[in-house]
Amino acid sequence: MPELPEVETIVAGLRPKLSGLVIQEVQVLLPSLLRKDGAFRLQRIQGKRINAVRRRGKMILVECQDRLYLIFHLKMTGRLLWTPRQTPRDEHTHLVVSFRGRTHELRFRDVRKFGYLRCLEASDPLECRELRSLGPEPLDLDLESFVHLFQGRKGRLKSLLLNQTFLAGIGNIYADEMLFEAGLHPLTPAVFLTRKQKEKLWTAMRHVLRRAIAAGGSSIRDFQDADGAEGLFQQEHRVYGRASLPCLRCGAKIGRLKIGGRTSSFCPRCQRKRAN
Ligand SMILES: [Zn+2]
Repeated sequence: MPELPEVETIVAGLRPKLSGLVIQEVQVLLPSLLRKDGAFRLQRIQGKRINAVRRRGKMILVECQDRLYLIFHLKMTGRLLWTPRQTPRDEHTHLVVSFRGRTHELRFRDVRKFGYLRCLEASDPLECRELRSLGPEPLDLDLESFVHLFQGRKGRLKSLLLNQTFLAGIGNIYADEMLFEAGLHPLTPAVFLTRKQKEKLWTAMRHVLRRAIAAGGSSIRDFQDADGAEGLFQQEHRVYGRASLPCLRCGAKIGRLKIGGRTSSFCPRCQRKRAN
């Protein structure tokens, strides 16, 4: 699933292309893609100008005139691609947005069909239900705010990092990478974290996410940005996808365990349980 760095990469690619364009038509080719009763508003959005494109957590917000918003969640395999109109559409293209006076169009392509679109009218889209419940943006948090997040939080560290109400945008790849960098075992109970360990995690989180954004995200399976380019950060993964390979820091065999149905990769030597 595209996580914060991948979605940020897509948004950074789409922003200069879409800002200021007027939506000509929105064609929904797979009706189940459209959540809630968005069809009526989708009609209204035609002819409206795009004011901004931004990211919140793993979601992409396209802000249009008259307080109308398109909100995309790419889920497992969704992609937003900026494509010449004459390029044939394949069977996985489920939505097409065309623009006045443009020879390119925006296509939503999704092989597994878990992704979705919401079209809503709101004075503040961040107040809509699925956005309101999101935790803070990891890169907006100073150290004190990050430390404060742990108050009253139970559960294992890995599960907590994946919980979108705790922090928005982190998924399996970056949770594993930041835990490795911070030297923390994924099963560490959050309540046992010392102040020093929280500081290490905060530093690792920022370092990993910033490097991943700079590398254009990680291309696992089929992630591509809006222009079809692949990210490069997968080449810098130190634990994710490296189970059974030697740890790049200490040489121990990278271990793997299931936490809440998700596979975690970690180094049993660099990330000891209850490490200090
Ligand atoms: Zn190691």
